[in-house]
Amino acid sequence: MNNIVIEKFGGASINSAAAVKNVITILRQQNDRKRVIVVSAMGKTTNALEKVVNMWHTNKRFNIEEFERIKEYHKGIAEELFDTNTLVSVLQQLEDIFEQIKERIKTLNPLDYNFLYDNIVSYGERLSSTIISLYMNHVGLKHRFADAQNYIKTDNTFRAAQVDWKQTQKSIDKDFDYLFDGNDLILTQGFIGSTREGYTTTLGREGSDYSAAIFAYCLDADSLTIWKDVSGLMNADPKRMDNTVKLNIVPYKEAIELSYYGASIIHPKTIKPLENKSIPLYVRSFNNPELQGSIICHGEQVVPLVPNYIFKEKQTLLSVSTKDFSFIAEDNIANIFSILSKHGVKVNLIQNSALTFSVCFEHSEFVLQNLIDDLQQFYNVKYNNDLHLITIRHYTEDSIKEATKNSKILIEQKNRVTIQCLIKPETESA
Ligand code: ASP
Ligand code: MG
Repeated sequence: MNNIVIEKFGGASINSAAAVKNVITILRQQNDRKRVIVVSAMGKTTNALEKVVNMWHTNKRFNIEEFERIKEYHKGIAEELFDTNTLVSVLQQLEDIFEQIKERIKTLNPLDYNFLYDNIVSYGERLSSTIISLYMNHVGLKHRFADAQNYIKTDNTFRAAQVDWKQTQKSIDKDFDYLFDGNDLILTQGFIGSTREGYTTTLGREGSDYSAAIFAYCLDADSLTIWKDVSGLMNADPKRMDNTVKLNIVPYKEAIELSYYGASIIHPKTIKPLENKSIPLYVRSFNNPELQGSIICHGEQVVPLVPNYIFKEKQTLLSVSTKDFSFIAEDNIANIFSILSKHGVKVNLIQNSALTFSVCFEHSEFVLQNLIDDLQQFYNVKYNNDLHLITIRHYTEDSIKEATKNSKILIEQKNRVTIQCLIKPETESA
């Protein structure tokens, strides 16, 4: 243990000037340890930058309207944070970054989508960390800035880069002693990294949690805290269900299961590095920092032990049968899976019988028709859209009834701990 803690602040925690000030208040409350602060892009900036990238990709047109919106949003936050004397220089620095975005996109091949994406979308984190670092200076919160691209080293899988752990460890080891010399606070960005050649990469949407876990692992941190807009890990999405319950203690393995089934609590890759080094993960509310939150750590059982609900919408159920009505056996299944894999389909549920093989996956209009065309060369294909997949961990009879009310159950699968129901909602819940 190194007496270092990692704290991650996501987009919602820094989406306005007031939110940034709140982060500073939280950071000022505990200062007896060395800390690495990992920040995401502000608010919905990543989505907005995706729009700029998408238009360049599809029409080779620079989306000036969206670009201006992003610029105004960041300038607006800066205007509220800094006094007039400082503001001029802050705005100039932001202006320079926006000029860079504009210039850079024009040099990028619109067709090389993933490369283009990482180059431009990564600016969300560059902007947020620049503003926050300048604001920390402004309010006298002493820190050093560490550009994550110099530390998170990855392969060339743009948009879903795989971490090169050896290089990452080496880069962090090389600099962090110096960065912590006479200084307790380091500010860095989530989500972004770079290849050996220095090209910008990203770790996939919502990847800042993962970045924070990588820093925690490589620095042998005492803990990682993820600050969120909820009071901890809940047993269901509060937007979908009433009477949700906070989970106080969640074993690493349970957290991995929950994110595997699609709970959008923390980025799925976050847990494993922490588990390997027994680093506890705290999930706490930036709106109520006095509350305890949830802790993810070693353990046998989630506390309290209540049913956990995970909803996935926009599911497609696709059923395949052989044209000659022969049985669906191993050779067919292998062929079906190689076609699914060719189209990048991530299967959420499988059901087979003698004559049909069904798979459920998230609907994507880009994928579905091409997939069907390929499958139809060999099989008869039927499909059904707009389904919901409900997973309940630690289910009870009541919890199943509650989760599937007003809907028709198309598939139900259960084991001792988990039930999954694919349903067609008959009445949309409000
Ligand atoms: N800004 C990135 C995203 O919104 C990464 C993150 O927030 O974790 O996906
Ligand atoms: Mg985000």
